Amino acid sequence: MKAQELLYQGKAKSAYLTDDPDLLVLAFRDDTSAFDGEIIEQLDAKGAINNQFNAFIMGALEAAGIETHFEKQLSKTDSLVKRLDMIPVECVVRNKAAGSLVRRLGVEEGLSFDPPLFELFLKNDALHDPMITEHHVAAFGWATDEEMAEMHRLSLAVNAVLAPLFADAGLTLVDFKLEFGRFHGRIVLGDEFSPDGCRLWDTATGEKKDKDRFRQKLGGVMEAYREVAERLGVVIDA
Ligand code: ADP
Ligand code: UDP
Repeated sequence: MKAQELLYQGKAKSAYLTDDPDLLVLAFRDDTSAFDGEIIEQLDAKGAINNQFNAFIMGALEAAGIETHFEKQLSKTDSLVKRLDMIPVECVVRNKAAGSLVRRLGVEEGLSFDPPLFELFLKNDALHDPMITEHHVAAFGWATDEEMAEMHRLSLAVNAVLAPLFADAGLTLVDFKLEFGRFHGRIVLGDEFSPDGCRLWDTATGEKKDKDRFRQKLGGVMEAYREVAERLGVVIDA
């Protein structure tokens, strides 16, 4: 399947049409942004690492019965995916407090949630992805109540699969963001799962192994991403 016309260029990935209207090529770039695109840098081999890491995670989710957009890896940096009608809502699952939750509610970083906490944000950089509730989703028609319930169910199901997977690799899955879309009447997981969109802490030392290294200028960003992949047994060709 060959990439054709550019459909849209996001902050980290580009989506290309193919000759099948149901399929897109997602090209993972080295661009790395923080604070809703205010800071953008190139990180060497990030596109390849995230593409291959995402392929592994999407495979693990499919194996657990969670439908994703992932079809196949095409190259180091590109994957073939189902073209979804994306829902502009970011679904966040938190096992521990970090990031915006700590700033918003003044709780201590690392506070545990059992059951996990589920939050929604509107995907809108200009408005800095404001927090919303399922009532906003219904009122503005971003998704139906049934679709919202399915996104909630699937988000928790993803956590139930991935938290133990990372735990076995000595990593704590602190939180993550998912995006869903519609595909022939079903709600399907889209976008990506990589250290760009989740928080992973070394369980033994507490060291951050995710994009917070970039946001907080801690250095060693790509070394951390590579280490996460290696610990999960993902062999990166970059
Ligand atoms: P952003 O939009 O945050 O800048 P990216 O650079 O990651 O992010 O761009 C990817 C874009 O592609 C996002 O807008 C995302 O919603 C969209 N997308 C991801 N997966 C799919 C898919 N399977 N079908 C259609 N659009 C998708
Ligand atoms: N996240 C993301 N994209 C966003 C906002 C958040 O991938 O636009 C991820 C982020 O990496 C973290 C989780 O969602 O793993 C929760 O993010 P939070 O609300 O704490 O916001 P942040 O402080 O990271 O901006």
